[in-house]
Amino acid sequence: MGSIVEEADSSQPHVLLFPFMSKGHTIPLLHFARLLLRRHVTLTLITTPANRPFISHSLRHHPAAAVIDIPFPTDVPGIPAGVESTDQLPSMSLFSKFAAATARMQPHLERVLATLPLPRVSLMVSDGFLWWTLQSASKFDIPRLVYYGMSCHANALTREAFVSGVFSGPQHRDELVPLTRFPWIRVCKNDFPPEFSDSDPTSLAAQFHTDVVTSAVKSFGTLVNSFYELEPVFVDYLSQNSTPHAYYCVGPLCLAEEEIDTRNLQEAFPKKASWIEWLDKKHEESRTCGVVYVAFGSQAEISHEQLKEIAYGLEESQVPFLWVIRRKEWESQLPEGFEERVGDKGMIVRDWVDQREILNHEGVKGFVSHCGWNSVLEAVCAGVPILAMPMMAEQYLNARMVEEEMKVGMRVETCDGSVRGFVRREGVRKKVRELMMVEGEKGEEVRRKVGEVAEMAKKAVEDGGSSWRTLENLLVETCKKKKT
Ligand code: UDP
Repeated sequence: MGSIVEEADSSQPHVLLFPFMSKGHTIPLLHFARLLLRRHVTLTLITTPANRPFISHSLRHHPAAAVIDIPFPTDVPGIPAGVESTDQLPSMSLFSKFAAATARMQPHLERVLATLPLPRVSLMVSDGFLWWTLQSASKFDIPRLVYYGMSCHANALTREAFVSGVFSGPQHRDELVPLTRFPWIRVCKNDFPPEFSDSDPTSLAAQFHTDVVTSAVKSFGTLVNSFYELEPVFVDYLSQNSTPHAYYCVGPLCLAEEEIDTRNLQEAFPKKASWIEWLDKKHEESRTCGVVYVAFGSQAEISHEQLKEIAYGLEESQVPFLWVIRRKEWESQLPEGFEERVGDKGMIVRDWVDQREILNHEGVKGFVSHCGWNSVLEAVCAGVPILAMPMMAEQYLNARMVEEEMKVGMRVETCDGSVRGFVRREGVRKKVRELMMVEGEKGEEVRRKVGEVAEMAKKAVEDGGSSWRTLENLLVETCKKKKT
């Protein structure tokens, strides 16, 4: 099936993408870039010098994509020179300072906008965290679409919790209260970032949230990395109740696979990473149970004590595991003799991995995840059930989505039953064994369910599917706006 954009208008839109400087926010927009480039849309992507290599490498098969970098502010207190991505921050407590500093990039963005070659930019898609880009877009009369790296479920629950006074209520941070519009869902203050219930509206974090929301409501719509059939209740709720009204669900974006050039042998048959070879071997050996993949995204912080309990829990589960450790210093915090004891039963990787390749490996049958939204979608698309261990941001809501709405996973047990509580080794061991169908019945249920959702996801992005149609409509609207 051809693209209706091509049929409707020969003058293609020019889309400018500006992702926030964190891997979890950049990666999905790079997938989105691929979708646009396949439709012959003129594409300009804005980034910073230190983020450019990652972006250029990701788009290496697309010479038509123009990648432009603008300087990241220097002399930001607490942020070491050269750190231009949240995964490089010495601590995530610096996030608000980092995000606030991006506003100093505004004059550079506007210089770029003033000098970009034709065709004129017809749409700006910029991250919600880069709230100030709306001002630049408005100056140049460019419609701006907000990209939030989260689901409509998390967005809708946050909105509804504000509206129903959850944050200002007198209840304890862990007390569950039902949401008026979604009475089957009960949330507590601890499901949301602490600053939402902070009494100080002048804090940097609170001010940042206000700026993000204020600029989002003045934008013409929201681009969502999700698909309608996954969360119709929440997409409809947002479309009917919030401003802006247009929610464009064009995902799962991780399904925008790279088209490999089979003339290039190295690209077609790249050398396998050592962990993929290990997975091949494990798959041969233990076809029944499979390997559990353990990873907590690009920026999670884990205390020494928590890391140790996860390690002991994995060891005691007796399930083969592949654990990607983000920070080198975590290595020294593992229990003494851990790797020797585990031997070939587990593999610890200290590199950046291709997570989608791991999740799509036939030997991987479960995923212990922090529930970053990309990780959730990548697991769902690969048909891999999730053991949720949320750590920050909207991940507590995503864990609810995984367990209570999609029913494609379960949650680790915290020692006091609270959402942010400490997880002991027994909690990890028991749930890993359930997830991997070594004991209990829940594992089988979630595995079946995730297979069904994976099928729905594929259908949504196929030609004619809901996400495919939404993107087509968005581009047609963009072409129309361009003409007026
Ligand atoms: N990722 C990856 N390799 C790594 C670590 C992370 O490919 O070694 C990717 C992962 O597949 C996902 C993104 O980085 O696309 C992380 O986003 P997510 O929303 O899951 O979590 P965040 O890092 O934002 O907390």
